[in-house]
Amino acid sequence: MASSTETSIVWLRDDLRLDDNPALSEAAALGMPLTVVYILDEDSEGVRPLGGATKWWLHHSLASLAGALEAKGSSLLLRRGPAEEIIRELAAETNARHLFWNRRYGQPERTVDAAVKAWATESGLQASSYQANLLFEPWTVRTGAGGPYKVFTPFWRACLAGADIRDPLQVPGTLPAPPKRTGTVQAGDTLDGWELLPSAPDWSGGLAAVWDPGEDGARRRLEDFLDGPAEEYGTGRNIPGVEGTSRLSPHLRFGEVSPFRVWRQIRRRYPNKVPADVGIFRSELGWREFCWHLLYTNPDLATRNYRPDFDRFEWEKPGKDELEAWQQGRTGYPFVDAGMRQLWQTGWMHNRVRMAAASFLVKNLLTDWRVGETWFWDTLVDADAASNPANWQWVAGSGADASPYYRIFNPVTQSKKFDAAGTYLRHFIPELADLDGKAIHEPWKSGVELAEYPRPLVDLPESRERALEAYQKLRDS
Ligand code: FAD
Repeated sequence: MASSTETSIVWLRDDLRLDDNPALSEAAALGMPLTVVYILDEDSEGVRPLGGATKWWLHHSLASLAGALEAKGSSLLLRRGPAEEIIRELAAETNARHLFWNRRYGQPERTVDAAVKAWATESGLQASSYQANLLFEPWTVRTGAGGPYKVFTPFWRACLAGADIRDPLQVPGTLPAPPKRTGTVQAGDTLDGWELLPSAPDWSGGLAAVWDPGEDGARRRLEDFLDGPAEEYGTGRNIPGVEGTSRLSPHLRFGEVSPFRVWRQIRRRYPNKVPADVGIFRSELGWREFCWHLLYTNPDLATRNYRPDFDRFEWEKPGKDELEAWQQGRTGYPFVDAGMRQLWQTGWMHNRVRMAAASFLVKNLLTDWRVGETWFWDTLVDADAASNPANWQWVAGSGADASPYYRIFNPVTQSKKFDAAGTYLRHFIPELADLDGKAIHEPWKSGVELAEYPRPLVDLPESRERALEAYQKLRDS
């Protein structure tokens, strides 16, 4: 027999926070016994399974969320399986009458949510959904002709023109306790039982040293950024050897901080005029919005060229050795290698280096961008269903508002310009730490015999020419 008391359910997904969580706040206000559930859904059609680094993050984020819920008199129920089925079962077990969630924007997730909503309506449950994770929902921003935007600048201008960005909601004071166990409410899974953490080998030490997943960690990152480098973001964001950016990306990815909260904190500090550098930072949040806008209208952004003419591009299948050299940071180009090692060790890579490392794979090695996108998906703690493919396609030239194909990042020039003293290179490539001055940017020219560091995998001018020829062939075909 199901519980006789009517209850409600909050289904948390990419919104692992108590602050500015409309679904949670609305459910709390209702005052009914409340089940807060997270479902690990690896079964619903099309839902992209998490990579290794995001699994690690999710484990710690859920642990942190569970603690925060308990401190408010609630708890976090964990279930695994196809979400629609789990929600139906849970609603029956708990005699739920209300169901709350914050909206998601990927196609497979929207399909699941629509099915749950249809079932809820038929079954007499009230299902309510909210805007929480994007400042501008993709369908609300339209060109004059009524279509989606394809270029960032007019997109962001249109967003801001009508901008009425709401204030974030406060953390609910207390939360209703979960329904009493009557014998029908099944116990949840244990987090450890999900085995999200790596073992044999446990490669997560470098991640743990750098990151603090969860809402507290997110709040600290935001405050540290605004107290620190924000007003010099315009230049600082290009220097990988300093902490010139916010490092909020994994926190935003898992919804541990809401973009409305970030926006509000900036407005609070600068009520009259936002300094230019902070404005540049805000427009980076705009790029996040733009990527989701693109994914919403192009659901297969991770597998299909946004520009269909690129379907004819003649990629080369990378040799196993070449690909491993790129993945492991052994291409012989220090800027690329430092980035790939930063990614492997910490689950994150500086944006400037992401662009250079991606360009090297796609252009100098003529490798299909999807190969790199897949590697990033597995290794980034901020691996995001929209931003990752959109940025890979941007680098490849196949994307929306993309970098032109002929713009081929030169890793040596980038390195000399953005890491002139070699601080970043020395940190991630200890084999090069003793090279003097500028020699570190081109170690093969140093005259020093380096037993531990490889010679360049490809010749830069030659591979650049090859890439340009391949692109010309595409244009001519
Ligand atoms: P900040 O410079 O502090 O920017 C603030 C926030 O703005 C970021 O946290 C992020 O949410 C957003 N943002 C900044 N730049 C971009 C951008 N180009 N596109 C979309 N959003 C942006 N970002 C991801 O969040 N997930 C990904 O999977 C991802 N994959 C990428 C793959 C490639 C090949 C490239 C070139 C970039 C990728 N990016 C991705 C974008 C960018 O590199 C990261 O968002 C940024 O480095 C995160 O660091 P930060 O939080 O310190 O950024």
